[in-house]
Amino acid sequence: MSKEFDIRPMLNAYPDSMGGRLSDIAKVLEKEEVNGAFSSFYILPSVFCSDLDRGFSVISYDLNPELANRDDIEKIKSLGINLKLDFVLNHISVQSPEFKDILEHGEESKYADFFINWNKFWEGHGTMTEEGYIQPDPEVIKDMFFRKPGLPLLMVELPGGKKVPYWNTFYQEVTENPDGTKKYLGQMDLNIKSPLVWEYYEEVLSKLASYGTKIVRLDAFGYAPKEVGKRNFMNEPDTWDFLKKIADMAEKHDLMVLPEVHDSYDKHSYEAICEKGYVTYDFFMPGLILDAIENEDATYLAAWASEIIRKGLKTVNMLGCHDGIPLLDLRGLLPEERIQGLIDTVVGRGGFVKDLHGNKNMYYQVNATYYSALGEDDKKMELARALQLFMPGKPQVWYLDLFEGKNDHEAVARAGAGGHKEINRTNLTWDMIESGLKKETVLKQLELLKYRNFHPAFAEDSAIAVASEGSKISITWQKGKYMASIEADLKTKEYSVYRTSTPSDEER
Ligand code: BGC
Repeated sequence: MSKEFDIRPMLNAYPDSMGGRLSDIAKVLEKEEVNGAFSSFYILPSVFCSDLDRGFSVISYDLNPELANRDDIEKIKSLGINLKLDFVLNHISVQSPEFKDILEHGEESKYADFFINWNKFWEGHGTMTEEGYIQPDPEVIKDMFFRKPGLPLLMVELPGGKKVPYWNTFYQEVTENPDGTKKYLGQMDLNIKSPLVWEYYEEVLSKLASYGTKIVRLDAFGYAPKEVGKRNFMNEPDTWDFLKKIADMAEKHDLMVLPEVHDSYDKHSYEAICEKGYVTYDFFMPGLILDAIENEDATYLAAWASEIIRKGLKTVNMLGCHDGIPLLDLRGLLPEERIQGLIDTVVGRGGFVKDLHGNKNMYYQVNATYYSALGEDDKKMELARALQLFMPGKPQVWYLDLFEGKNDHEAVARAGAGGHKEINRTNLTWDMIESGLKKETVLKQLELLKYRNFHPAFAEDSAIAVASEGSKISITWQKGKYMASIEADLKTKEYSVYRTSTPSDEER
């Protein structure tokens, strides 16, 4: 776990985000303007065979032949770029061979316990409803964390017509076939108490390793351990035991784990993750950079940077990503009125608030492109990127931010109910890529990325110093004789970058 952490920049995209196939992204990465800007690439899980939730409902970890093949992966690696891929621990698709076996063989299936039979789980702790599922007693679910309205279950019809509820934390879709039978889609929660699930985990890890992956993102891992009466999200101590077991397995395949958890700052989950020796996502930075730029005040961003440095937290940070801009996470770090101010600004610029099933006090993410969230202002976008690249951590770059993507309301409308995330997932055509690579703001971001990628001042063990006063902030990285720093003014949106010469400058 205390392996060397490569903090050079990472691209993030779906396999079809740029040009249509992963092979097209490989071509983009080879282009002169882009080549040398990234050392890692986080390919989202639609690169695997999957259905719902644009990849997060995995059918199998084989590559989706419509989007990618092994040669594309090898090509990307030959450019000196390592891979980060998802390990979706909490659930797999209804269309996975394992769930299909249940649909075919019912409770006789070898996989009967592979998923969580809701009624078995809550047996003795609730009342059977007319619909055939147990409504748990109030005292056993009073502390439970719900991702969606209603109970997280999917009623599935087994052979013989028996209806059985299975635990389903995330998405589901039930439609009727022309012959009246039901077609189910859903991300079915796995039963981590089943030994077969652990065999499955082992198979997944070896498959991920076979692609030459370096980092495995542990998607939504905090939902996997479940117990009657608990919060059923980040249960203590079970979540940590689970994580340790997974990390140990991953280590055998030489894979570094990156646990993914959205939790408010005041719960300090990010810190607990780091204390246990893992790298954590910095889900605070996207909101803090927005806050700093919009309020022309560096205080909170600088305080967070100092905390990362002081506590030696290992982080992966970002501006935008495939999900929304996290705000729930900022509770306890940024005053409530500042969080509300951010929501109002981003929504006023065409974004959406995804609150947790209508509960205003549990706002979760704002869905918008980062560029639109910043008012589609080039100077602000350049400043945001420059600040990100000097913040401690490994910078992850959402392809659409790089190309200054704007809120895509048509895509949201096309996606229908629950399609709010599509606002920030526009696929770029070759024309859009070619014209984007001529824009000054895009080129400036790429130049800075190349500098961040190669300058020796940026290393895991560099000394980083942060200073701020009002609207001014400076961040300096020092490693031996190498130094790189930024001085920015959030009021004027101007910034300057300084650097010592690099070994290749010295050779010239
Ligand atoms: C991913 C989401 C996804 C969810 C379920 C998350 O943490 O980032 O995009 O919907 O996990 O897999």
